[in-house]
Amino acid sequence: MAWFLNHYHCGDCGTDWDDEWSCMCNDECPECGARHMSPVDSDDLTYLIEGKGGVFSVLYSPENAEHYPKYIKMAEFTSEHAAELYVEVVLRPQAA
Ligand SMILES: [Zn+2]
Repeated sequence: MAWFLNHYHCGDCGTDWDDEWSCMCNDECPECGARHMSPVDSDDLTYLIEGKGGVFSVLYSPENAEHYPKYIKMAEFTSEHAAELYVEVVLRPQAA
């Protein structure tokens, strides 16, 4: 599991909407109720960087997240760039 922000487009009525899920799963159109719409795009929110008062926290949604992300704080940095580097180099080296 991980955490995703999925973007959907309804082929029946043309509505666009976003929804957060623990998978890239299908959703129901909020306007016309058409079922089994697949995400057209998806943002991986497994790792999030949250900036507050000059401190940038790296948050991680663990494997057992299902109905909500259950974010865990992994580390804190004083710059957003350092936080991004931490995600890229330490948490996600396979994607580099
Ligand atoms: Zn629709």
